[in-house]
Amino acid sequence: MSFKSLGLSEALLKAISKKGYTTPSPIQQKAIPKVLERKDVLASAQTGTGKTAAFTLPMLQILNTGKHLHNRPVRALVLTPTRELAAQVMEDVNTYSEFTNCNGTVIFGGVSEKPQIKALRKGVDILVATPGRLLDLQSRNLVSLANIEILVLDEADRMLDMGFLRDIKKILAVMPSKRQNLLFSATFSKDIKKLANTFLHNPVMVEA
Ligand code: AMP
Repeated sequence: MSFKSLGLSEALLKAISKKGYTTPSPIQQKAIPKVLERKDVLASAQTGTGKTAAFTLPMLQILNTGKHLHNRPVRALVLTPTRELAAQVMEDVNTYSEFTNCNGTVIFGGVSEKPQIKALRKGVDILVATPGRLLDLQSRNLVSLANIEILVLDEADRMLDMGFLRDIKKILAVMPSKRQNLLFSATFSKDIKKLANTFLHNPVMVEA
């Protein structure tokens, strides 16, 4: 099994090969074709399985083939429970987007919002964010989620453990209902299943 056989474009294959990966991991083999088919995906995957690339690579491919609107609104949102994870996901987005015309930025709490606001003003395709800071900036109209085409909840179980359910619901409410949804979680409690039922449409289930 190769990355090419999963349907990834030259721009992404180039970044993957530069990074030194030769074979897609099991979660990548299962999730990437489904995301490219524009399915909603419910993925069971722990850290270390290659889950970040499993959603970042197809997401970049979808955004890269789409038309860039002149004002460059945010088209994909990755929500993470912690700033460390947000920073890590952002790093992967930067690595894999090198040969595309997509860009991204990251926002999280606990640091000055000024550089984050400045980056948002320039226009970004992909926003990686923790829920609190995102809602703060969204409620002050410093970022709009009205053009989101792809939503990823990364480590959804940890987000619920950290009490982000209310924030997630508020964020879901300010996005267009027609969008692709991906939920990644290490565990599947009753609460995660309930959350998944509220916003995933006929999800394909994949396991690492
Ligand atoms: P993650 O589960 O996304 O945190 O990824 C775990 C680690 O595996 C990261 O250091 C990735 O850079 C690396 N990785 C992801 N996909 C692959 C792959 N197909 N081959 C080798 N390493 C990978």
